[in-house]
Amino acid sequence: MGSYETACRYFDQASRQVGLSRNMQELLRTPEREVKVEVAIERDNGEIATYIGYRIQHDSSRGPMKGGLRFHHEVDADEVLALASLMTWKTALVNIPYGGAKGGISVDVSQLSQGELERVTRKFVDKVYDVIGPSKDIPAPDMGTNAQVMAWIMNQFEKYRGFNPACVTGKPLELHGADGREEATGRGVAMITRETLDRLKIDVTGVTVAIQGFGNVGSFAAHFLNEFGAKVVAVSDASGGVYKADGLNIPQLIEYSKDTGAVRGFPETEAISNEELLTSNVTVLIPAALGGVLTKEIARDTRAKCIIEAANNPTEPEADEIFEKNDVVVVPDILANAGGVTVSYFEWVQNRQHFSWEKSRVRSELDRIMSDSFELVWKIATDKKVSLRVAAYILGIGRVGRATVLGGI
Ligand code: GLU
Repeated sequence: MGSYETACRYFDQASRQVGLSRNMQELLRTPEREVKVEVAIERDNGEIATYIGYRIQHDSSRGPMKGGLRFHHEVDADEVLALASLMTWKTALVNIPYGGAKGGISVDVSQLSQGELERVTRKFVDKVYDVIGPSKDIPAPDMGTNAQVMAWIMNQFEKYRGFNPACVTGKPLELHGADGREEATGRGVAMITRETLDRLKIDVTGVTVAIQGFGNVGSFAAHFLNEFGAKVVAVSDASGGVYKADGLNIPQLIEYSKDTGAVRGFPETEAISNEELLTSNVTVLIPAALGGVLTKEIARDTRAKCIIEAANNPTEPEADEIFEKNDVVVVPDILANAGGVTVSYFEWVQNRQHFSWEKSRVRSELDRIMSDSFELVWKIATDKKVSLRVAAYILGIGRVGRATVLGGI
């Protein structure tokens, strides 16, 4: 089953609970616009390389569309649409004034030089600049993209439209970025983990955690969880994983992985595979890398009491059913990783006001939105006796549905 069909399974489940009519369901499922473009560049060796880029705009009933840009060789239209729809429910769930979109280019960034990456990015903007913009659709970082890529996007967009920092978020601090954006997704994940443990009456101090993925999201989640007193015992990335029963030294591991490009080989640890990490004996499991990693086979062997979805779409529906049957608490992606887009919103607000906030303000506003959203989702789940995922969708879909009806067709 494709990614979008999978995403729609959760949507269908929740829309039945919300009591959406069939026609309304069809309207909300259907993306507003799907753009597919050719991205051709000259490589450093003089050869021409042609890639395919996408920007899929799922819904704009609550505001301009918002969502990341993913550069990865597995990107395709189906995946981008699924991720775009998640952005619609995510922005509604945390109640920021945006719709949902997502973009991507099917390219293996590890094969590109810095100059080639810049040319790919600028060419993509040349192809989509008329459908994006600060009041239309605002891209941001996702897998394979970072603040530098956002700086090129802004610079290229401004060649068409003049000074326009609010056209993209996740920019470098020197170019109108927001202090606190880089850490935001990981900080939100750590906050949500702490709230979840609190509800489950488990002390965060000393709680065992395994994190799959040690990029921007995974490493900041580890950093903050470590600060909260949790014991991060296992971490992995594409190169493999490391395990230490009495807890990894997270500040040193972050340095080590920056220096060597991987967590593998970190001194005084046991090497483990990604699969071993997902089934390790921990209380909290945090998938923070690719989608689809929690398959039904893995779900049967998972020993964690709660799963915090830092990645988008990490859990296959069959695995979700197994977790529910086994009383594993799963905090869904659209809640767990919403810290990133929330601080993107703060960046956009600052850019539009030409006024920048202190990092402490960014952090406290983020913390407030994350804990209020968590509380609402938890209450819906308890009142309606549904999973946290269905509760999160009920909240998001309800808000989008009401905005659509009020705005009119
Ligand atoms: N790519 C991130 C996400 O999936 C952030 C999106 C944004 O900041 O617009 O939520």
